[in-house]
Amino acid sequence: MPLDTTPQTDPFALAQALSGHHLIDGQLVAAASGRTFDVVNPATGAVIGQAAEGNADDVERAVQAAAHAQTAWKRLPARQRGKLVTECGTRLAQHADELGRLIALETGKALRTESRVEAGVLADMFLFFGGLGSELKGESVPFNPDMMTVTVREPVGVVGAIIPWNVPLLLMAMKIAPALVAGNTVVVKSAEEAPLTVLRVCQIMNEILPPGCFNMLSGFGPDCGGPLVAHPKVAKVSFTGSVETGRIVARAAADRLIPVTLELGGKSPMIVMDDADLDRAVEGAITGMRFTRQGQSCTASSRIYVHEAVHDAFVAKVRARVDAMVMGDPLDEATDIGTIISPQQFEKVQGYIEAGKKAGGTAIACSRLPQDPALKKGLFLQPVIFTDIGPDAPPAKEEIFGPVACVFKFRDYEAVIDEANTSEYGLAATIWTRDLRTAMNATQRLEAGFVQVNQNLVVQPNLSYGGVKASGLGKEASLESMLEHFTHKKTIIINMT
Ligand code: ADP
Repeated sequence: MPLDTTPQTDPFALAQALSGHHLIDGQLVAAASGRTFDVVNPATGAVIGQAAEGNADDVERAVQAAAHAQTAWKRLPARQRGKLVTECGTRLAQHADELGRLIALETGKALRTESRVEAGVLADMFLFFGGLGSELKGESVPFNPDMMTVTVREPVGVVGAIIPWNVPLLLMAMKIAPALVAGNTVVVKSAEEAPLTVLRVCQIMNEILPPGCFNMLSGFGPDCGGPLVAHPKVAKVSFTGSVETGRIVARAAADRLIPVTLELGGKSPMIVMDDADLDRAVEGAITGMRFTRQGQSCTASSRIYVHEAVHDAFVAKVRARVDAMVMGDPLDEATDIGTIISPQQFEKVQGYIEAGKKAGGTAIACSRLPQDPALKKGLFLQPVIFTDIGPDAPPAKEEIFGPVACVFKFRDYEAVIDEANTSEYGLAATIWTRDLRTAMNATQRLEAGFVQVNQNLVVQPNLSYGGVKASGLGKEASLESMLEHFTHKKTIIINMT
């Protein structure tokens, strides 16, 4: 199939057509080494295509192209850059269904509940940032009446963006759209498990943006992501992934004295008070835990503290809601819940379920495994709700990145706030109550980058998103984050005497 940029309906053919390419300097090219690796459909275990296996040579080509392109890109008027980014958003919106199908195929995320939604948010993020070009303002400073003193916002240069597999389109958009509008050029390194849809997005953007502004590499972390962070012409790194890799990236960035933004893991608490609207809280737990994404979210509300007066009713209702969800072929419109991403992750999640049982927890397995023989090799796993589990059991403490929620019973508000804050993480937190004082108090005391009352929204354009403690450094998705992380402020003084 030719690599046509009109919307495609067959994700299998598209995966084949995209196989074996990076996007460097406006061209789809093979890896310098000629090597590729398999991309697997987690719902069947079948190989659906190949990704180019990038190494330091590919990084060199991509970063040089980005550095070269930046000279002209940063000189375009900011609103003109924004207009081009807006055009990317408009084009990507026309591809939402196509991108949704492709991401469902390579990640196993259900099309209706997850993948198509993500493709829509991808486009929205571009549209949001595309309108912000004229907000790249500086200040005038009352320093000395004889000296005209101003600050201007300048791009940092070439940005390296390293993304994970769970919501690769959204996370990519949060990094590259503001970076480009601010006058930077970008090299994106996709995740091993989800390279093809990211490449398709780049191919579509490449019809609009000048060559080299935007480059995309696939490959393994240490072989391709490592050289990207270490490249002398990369001026800033924005990373989303695990805490362990985040530390490696931060160390490498520290060696080069370049800024780094890190969006890492989470073990987010959700507190349900006895006066909460229980049905709303139950819906909040379903969304918060991302059951439709098999819990593969860094903000998953995986520690749920429920007041003893409503605990049993809450557990029964959540269980009934998850039981009613259909697990099946991610591409089927009837499917609510798809698969786990990879065999390694599948094993890891199962290990946590076993550890929780060993620690004395009661594991309630929900929903039903699909019966279709075509899916028998698929990485389907029944979501588990743990009750009667201690706070120190591994599934209660560690990030699982799977469909495992721990529900704890509490009586005392003060104690539950303390317990919620014991985690090494601090990404998101929610409280469910009808009492304004309790709500206000909790929003002040919960240690997290994103605290919500009586709702569980996910990342939204215009709201700063990011964690505290081990959940990361810096925020993304907002105007302030664009200014703070993708520009530097230059002070200029003109002595008029
Ligand atoms: P996960 O465990 O979810 O796969 P990782 O943090 O390992 O999370 O991966 C997130 C991203 O970081 C992926 O694109 C991966 O290839 C990349 N990565 C992994 N190791 C490194 C490394 N040493 N340097 C740079 N990037 C890396």
